[in-house]
Amino acid sequence: MQQKLLDLKNDFLNKLENTTSPEQVEVLKKEFLGKWGKLQDILKGIKDLSVEEKKVVGPLANELKNEIEQKAEEKTLLLEEAKFEQQVEDEQIDVTLQFPSKKKGHKHPISITSELLEDIFISLGFKVEDGPQIEDEQHNFDKLNIPDNHPARDVWDTFWITDKINDTKASGKKQLLRTHTSPIQVRTMLKWDLPIKIIVPGRVFRYEQEDARHTCNFYQLEGLVVWEWVTFGDLKWTLDTVMKRLLGEKTELRFRPSIFPFTEPSAEVDVSCQICNGTGKVKGKKCSMCSGTGWVELLGAGMVHPKVLKESGVDLEKYSGFAFGMGIDRIAAQRFNVSSSRMFYQSRLKLNEQF
Ligand SMILES: [Zn+2]
Repeated sequence: MQQKLLDLKNDFLNKLENTTSPEQVEVLKKEFLGKWGKLQDILKGIKDLSVEEKKVVGPLANELKNEIEQKAEEKTLLLEEAKFEQQVEDEQIDVTLQFPSKKKGHKHPISITSELLEDIFISLGFKVEDGPQIEDEQHNFDKLNIPDNHPARDVWDTFWITDKINDTKASGKKQLLRTHTSPIQVRTMLKWDLPIKIIVPGRVFRYEQEDARHTCNFYQLEGLVVWEWVTFGDLKWTLDTVMKRLLGEKTELRFRPSIFPFTEPSAEVDVSCQICNGTGKVKGKKCSMCSGTGWVELLGAGMVHPKVLKESGVDLEKYSGFAFGMGIDRIAAQRFNVSSSRMFYQSRLKLNEQF
């Protein structure tokens, strides 16, 4: 039996030598020391031994069990250490490794122009206001002196929100994609105390045929000043100053009489075309930006209509105001010499990356 125990020990040590993972050591340990293991198998014959022999074999078997446990533990530790070292080796980070640098994006020309306009107006004491893009009929039309069935509504080709809820709403409450930034005039006058001196840059929507100067959504910048003794002269000076700062000192402005429901008197304001320098021609051909006229219509402006002021709770005896709205896209096209503002919306990276 002593020989059997010695053979068992050698067998175990040989097999342990060939293990390559802690899991394999555990399986081997079970094979020798488990309830149905090889040692138990040998010890089954102990009952047939004499008392003297039992005294020798008993401690020997115990010693062998301890030795197997100890050797298994030592090997497990060794294998775990080796595994950890391999892991460190595999996961090493080379901090000196160089990657090609990522290309940085930049602002869209319309954002650049909008921020530039904001800076100019802020330097003149204006505040920047914002409002919802989904408006109600009342703020977009009614309170701006464009009641239901007014012919002027046709000028603003409107995207109405046509869901079941909207269709059941009372007149004035129906929702639409705002056709201009002018509703913020009303919202501001109802919300703030006078004096008011604001600009509202933002996206507006029109249901219209696209061409070099028209897109179904574009960016507008609205302006409103309401205080005592505000005159048309203040409006002219403000627009002249802003356009010269934005497009250059040589820029000319042209005021043409016009009709808007929310201003009286009203004017369309043109600036001399920056693409053809007011000549109407580019390389002998008709300039597409100004249709060969040398002028580009950039603004609508005028003195705020008394009805609009009244709707917004302003005392007509004491106060007056002027308002204007300009297309940021068209100004961007003029500033960056792009022949059609529609091109800004066509995801032309080659075009947008130039600015
Ligand atoms: Zn032109």
